[in-house]
Amino acid sequence: MKDRFAKNLMELNGQIAQACEECDRDADDITVIAVTKTFPATAISIAVASGVFNIGESRLQDAEPKIVELGQIARYHMIGHLQTNKVKKAVELFDCIQSVDSLKLAKEISKRAVEAGRTIECFVEVNSSEEPQKNGVALDETLDFIKQIYQLPNLKLTGLMTIGPHTIDENKIRAAFHKCHHLFKEGKQIVGNGFTHLSMGMSSDFKIAIQEGSTMIRVGTGLFGSRDKT
Ligand SMILES: *Cc1c(COP(=O)(O)O)cnc(C)c1O
Repeated sequence: MKDRFAKNLMELNGQIAQACEECDRDADDITVIAVTKTFPATAISIAVASGVFNIGESRLQDAEPKIVELGQIARYHMIGHLQTNKVKKAVELFDCIQSVDSLKLAKEISKRAVEAGRTIECFVEVNSSEEPQKNGVALDETLDFIKQIYQLPNLKLTGLMTIGPHTIDENKIRAAFHKCHHLFKEGKQIVGNGFTHLSMGMSSDFKIAIQEGSTMIRVGTGLFGSRDKT
């Protein structure tokens, strides 16, 4: 796994560099999150050994034993849907929760973070594809939602996260990302300069995401190979 990871990472970095060059951006402005969901703890160790210190996991139950085993060798990002009754644990395990999509969840994160004496970085998850079955705050409600949560204690709101529409139509993907970038800029007007992360783009669509202003891409398959199932 280690050799394949190193090779995939080199390829990925090359593709990021090329995408950045094409749109006149600096590759240093793109953070890679290695998405290790469904893979064992060794996947995290391998990523960290190669210098990828941001790790994404989408299910609390699966992530917990890995994080407990490895400890704080990386920054752990929760990228999957989070239920309110799991927030206490999530606040202990994760440095950043990218999937904040309801006021109830945000308040619970704040409350549990205060209790734990931690500050948790949070992103608002935006439903940019406007598919009703998808998680995330609706595009036209995102700015109001930001205003409601950004001053909650011990919750540090630093960005937006979105999952692109599940389609091969590049124009649809681009349009969704474009809208999120616009919201990101508007969000900065509300939150201030600490609002710095636009987490969008996965293995299949990160080039479009970079062209549309992403600062953080979440790559699983492209680094570790395909998952059996999620
Ligand atoms: C699984 C997952 C990813 C990574 O997807 P790949 O296509 O394997 O790169 C990114 N973001 C979220 C929210 C995910 O659940």
